[in-house]
Amino acid sequence: MIDLHDDRDSHGYYLYQSVDAGAEAVGRQIVDRVGTVTSINVNSEIEGRAADRGVIDGPCNPDTLAWWPLAAYAKTHGVKRVLTLEAPGRHSIEARVQAHLVAIEAAIEYFSGLDRE
Ligand SMILES: [Zn+2]
Repeated sequence: MIDLHDDRDSHGYYLYQSVDAGAEAVGRQIVDRVGTVTSINVNSEIEGRAADRGVIDGPCNPDTLAWWPLAAYAKTHGVKRVLTLEAPGRHSIEARVQAHLVAIEAAIEYFSGLDRE
């Protein structure tokens, strides 16, 4: 599942991923591809979570939030791979849309490749 977001405070693209043990993670491939069209948020901490070059790994803890994000519902209902993509809100809407399109394309290509193996 891919949830498209916009972080109005961020100067760079980043994502959250929560992947079942044993399932392939695609977050790194997505961020590397998006890095060809826009800047990546390379902070070691984003929104209070540890981040590695734009990738925040592991499930969120919905108990600490006022309301459950879509990612938490999806994970609870058995979705193997949950991705929340955050476009950099400091960039133009055109740049953010382009970044999300590149990210979706990278994810589809990646999983199409897995299916052929
Ligand atoms: Zn968000």
